[in-house]
Amino acid sequence: MFLDLKTSNHSRIVCWMFGWLGAFQLWLPAQEPARTNVADLAIVNARILICDTAMSQASAIAVQSGRIVAVGDRSTVEPFISKRTQVIDAAGRTVTPGLIDSHLHFINLGQSLQKLDLSQAQSWDEIVSKVEQASWLLPKGTWIEGSGWHQSKWIRPPDNNVDGYPNHRSLSEAVPDHPVILSHASGHACFANQAAMELAGVHRDTSNPSGGEVLKDAAGNPLGVFRENAQSLIYRAQSRTTQRLSQEELNAATLTQLQLAGDACLKQGITSVHDAGSSFETVRRLRQFAESGQLPLRMSVMIRDGSENLSAQLPTHRMEDVGGGFLTVRSVKAMIDGALGPHGAWLMEPYNDLPSTSGLNTIAIEELKRIAILCKQHHWQLCVHAIGDRANREVLDVYEQVLGQQVSTDHRWRIEHAQHLTSSDIPRFAKLGVIPAMQANHCTSDAIFVPQRLGERRSAQGAYVWRSLMDAGSIISNGTDAPVERVDPRASLHAAVTRQLPSGEVFYPEQCMTRKEALLSYTLWPARAAFQEKQLGSLELGKRADIVLWDTDLLNCKPADILTANVALTILEGKIVYTGE
Ligand SMILES: [Zn+2]
Repeated sequence: MFLDLKTSNHSRIVCWMFGWLGAFQLWLPAQEPARTNVADLAIVNARILICDTAMSQASAIAVQSGRIVAVGDRSTVEPFISKRTQVIDAAGRTVTPGLIDSHLHFINLGQSLQKLDLSQAQSWDEIVSKVEQASWLLPKGTWIEGSGWHQSKWIRPPDNNVDGYPNHRSLSEAVPDHPVILSHASGHACFANQAAMELAGVHRDTSNPSGGEVLKDAAGNPLGVFRENAQSLIYRAQSRTTQRLSQEELNAATLTQLQLAGDACLKQGITSVHDAGSSFETVRRLRQFAESGQLPLRMSVMIRDGSENLSAQLPTHRMEDVGGGFLTVRSVKAMIDGALGPHGAWLMEPYNDLPSTSGLNTIAIEELKRIAILCKQHHWQLCVHAIGDRANREVLDVYEQVLGQQVSTDHRWRIEHAQHLTSSDIPRFAKLGVIPAMQANHCTSDAIFVPQRLGERRSAQGAYVWRSLMDAGSIISNGTDAPVERVDPRASLHAAVTRQLPSGEVFYPEQCMTRKEALLSYTLWPARAAFQEKQLGSLELGKRADIVLWDTDLLNCKPADILTANVALTILEGKIVYTGE
């Protein structure tokens, strides 16, 4: 194992105590007296980045019943150590608070992890065997999904192929009892087995829908390949069967997705997530899981719905620290525009590379105002997705109008992404108390096309301007937007401090965060962005014990080494939930 965890019963201290007490043995009780200040776990000999506002450091920390009971140097922690304490010698390595990804889609992340990745498959037979193995683990009738296959990557053509596409027969024989849907790497075709085609009512007489094609073999039977619009025959069958699931089946499916997403987060040091948009039904289900201790990590969930449903349900769905701090629901999510890549971000002026459009406004401003008024009435936080500069302007205007006099209260309304800003709007974030929740990895992923879309002037003045926002008094709440991007916090931390593309180019370096700011953007600042800074986000006395031990000094290492840093241990609520290899 990579990690040499020196856990001990702290025999040195015990020996010292008994040595000193030797002369008074007559008065010693038969057993160690019951102590109330005994730590369950302690980490010593560490470089602890507390991530408080002063970015203080310590070398030892002790945890009892899920809370931090001591932090400082070894002498601070020793009074809490007994035979029952698990003591971890960090050997000088770095410790941070559990990281907080403040914008992702948690259940979607779990769903994406359930799909078989077929992008590296070298033959059709390899795909059949992967799907067959997956079927052994799933109840009959459960859909198996895969994606990324491409026949041009295969080293030999499949038997009975038509134009290089495989025939479903070998897959249908290997996996007869599970419907299977495998999407092509291009997204323009999918593959189904016999069970899926039966559920979709596809047979030899099925004709091509408009804009799509059901491929057939020489005998006129469906091959299993569905191109363009014909894919919806299979996807509709999948959603019909999913809708028929019982509550128990739905719960079981959601729980599996939560566990997969949770495992992916905990192994990267993420102990809390802000879920950017779930339904009322989903949060009711999450509540059950939180109350029965089944949530894999802490979730702060934004509700996504229209003003009519929000009006009816907001008063009864507020949840704070359910299940011992594992579930909080006190935010609403809305979206005012699309994304920059497909020219959907709503801009003040037309796109540089598509002058016929300025992007898309995806919610009526009046509806956004209704939602904002409801949030104000019920004291909920509002988080609106806004990417383009026009979108950000409109959201800031709505916030300012609706909050009115209350703009100076501690509302902490957020703008999700806040990617492209007009210069005059940058100081309005701090002035109005609006928190920009920006995913640093989007900057380095998108930078390759930003100047084409926006032109040089807009890119330089307003694209991912963390530095300008912070200089104007804002905090930045970081994250990944997984599964849109990988849930890897290292990519966002690295992007935050370097703005370096994979090619080595740097996108407007004057907007970089310092190393300390980047760490705060994944710890204390997102805790604040969810009203949780009294419980989470730093390793201060009394806070919840969510702690990560790293193999790399995230504060002082070379920037490139952030990308390869590994988590050695993740501790959630004082318990070790992940140990690195
Ligand atoms: Zn998102």
